[in-house]
Amino acid sequence: GMAGDGGANDGGTVGAVAVDAAGRTAAATSTGGIVGKRRGRVGDTPIVGAGTWAEPDLALSATGDGEAILRVTLTRQIGWRAGEAGLGRSMAAALADLDLLTGGTAGVIGVDRAGACWAATTTPTMAIAWAAAGVVRAKVLTAAAGAARCDG
Ligand code: ASP
Repeated sequence: GMAGDGGANDGGTVGAVAVDAAGRTAAATSTGGIVGKRRGRVGDTPIVGAGTWAEPDLALSATGDGEAILRVTLTRQIGWRAGEAGLGRSMAAALADLDLLTGGTAGVIGVDRAGACWAATTTPTMAIAWAAAGVVRAKVLTAAAGAARCDG
């Protein structure tokens, strides 16, 4: 999972991605939205392909500038590119495109069906945690770190 971006948009977002022993993937994302949001705003978080995405090979969850994430369908795009580029490189490329196309920032966490977990952010910081076979690891990612293995 991941928690918050520590910035003005921090709505207490928590994302979770999982893969089971049979390779079944799942993703879930919860948020308080953004500071000063308009009544009725939905944002990217519950929109499949924007803030949350799972397909047979991987699962992804995002936090950050919801309007920007929606415009590029960020998590779906990462999934689409991951087949060729791999999950980490796909994240880095999609976040770079998000910046170029919208000026927005975001953080993402993802896992593939083999159990490799990757995360990346263009926000100043993003906290992540990873649990596998009884071992739990947590750390704070920075934008400078690029895409990183959750368990690295
Ligand atoms: N993406 C969320 C939203 O726009 C906010 C966040 O993740 O910090 O509602």
